Amino acid sequence: MNILDQIKEELPWLGNNEIYDLTRGKPSPNQLLLSQKLIESISQPFEMDGVDLRNYGTPEGIKPARNLGSTILGTEEEKTLALDNSSLTLMHQILACSYFLGFNSSKLTPESKFICLVPGYDRHFKLLENFGIEMISVPFLENGPDIEKIKEFIAKDSGIHGIVCVPRHSNPTGHTFTDEQVDQIFKAVQPNKENFMIIWDNAYACHDLKETIEQSSASIIANRNGVEDNLFILGSTSKITLAGAGISFISSSTKNLDQFISYRNSLTPAPNKMNQGLHAKIFSQVSIIDHMTELKKLILPKFELVESYLLNLKKMNLCEFASPTGGYFFSFESSNNNAEEIINTCGEVGLKLLPVGSCFPYLKDPNNSNIRLAPTFPNIEDLEKCMEIFSKVVIKLN
Ligand code: PLP
Repeated sequence: MNILDQIKEELPWLGNNEIYDLTRGKPSPNQLLLSQKLIESISQPFEMDGVDLRNYGTPEGIKPARNLGSTILGTEEEKTLALDNSSLTLMHQILACSYFLGFNSSKLTPESKFICLVPGYDRHFKLLENFGIEMISVPFLENGPDIEKIKEFIAKDSGIHGIVCVPRHSNPTGHTFTDEQVDQIFKAVQPNKENFMIIWDNAYACHDLKETIEQSSASIIANRNGVEDNLFILGSTSKITLAGAGISFISSSTKNLDQFISYRNSLTPAPNKMNQGLHAKIFSQVSIIDHMTELKKLILPKFELVESYLLNLKKMNLCEFASPTGGYFFSFESSNNNAEEIINTCGEVGLKLLPVGSCFPYLKDPNNSNIRLAPTFPNIEDLEKCMEIFSKVVIKLN
């Protein structure tokens, strides 16, 4: 009997046309319901702090929303803008602003290169690729980015004009950078600081599921190293309130923010201040910490379930993985370098996974070993089925 038939025989519930899917880090309907209830408990404000939320204007975002962003990102309110619904869009806009106008210490050109930590977030890589930016992969080591490699690359190439990092619960590896590592990364970029962007995507700034190390403000560490004009901190409420319908934030030096607002003024006459008002009002009634604690109750059991399956595979020497203390993902490393075969076989029996290489620039996984698992969206029963399928496939393909 071939492997597919064996799996179908051992998992008789397969083939009932259900789609099992671990591809994207989406909040589950239950998570979204928590936010929906908060929204239903308040009335939509139309005016806040003397600002008419219904009208154009206030391109930097309303003060209470900027305050919310500074709380989430650990940045100064005056150096934090509250904007529209996606931090990924902000990343696109800051690249475009650097490319077309330039920031104080950043001017991207068609020849610019970026350092990308791998495995990393697929949409970052696609975005950089769309700009024609050459991506140089630097791997994560067990405890964090390979900083010696970052130093080495930058020291020998003045054409490297940026790096993209997810410093807390990195997507997908789950790494959280220590202050010492942040300091070393900021020191490593100094040789190219006349033209360099540090994109600090803090998408999972407050998404701890287990005890996670404290981090100092990246802005303070940047100031100490004289790279404050190079640092662009991003974040959003996408994984806090509503994905695709939250608010995004950016923090950088005052000069950079002024330039960015001027650039954005030609893109839009105003951010969506109605949504900013809604969010500001919600979080004046419930704290971010309390809300994240409620979300954790829904997400943590799913992480524990996935971890139990992966631990079992690890004990059989079939994989490596680091246990994430938060965020949205697991990063599976096949010991048999057969990620593509695992992904394809899972697909044939009904479990969707991201294509091989998705967490690498140009979709090239040099070891054919990495698979990102995103456990938040399915309910726990379906997640268990996903992991049953996944484990069975990994074991059968050994
Ligand atoms: N950055 C990272 C690292 C992510 O993992 C994600 C979503 O998965 C995003 C950004 C997207 O955030 P937003 O919805 O604010 O664009």
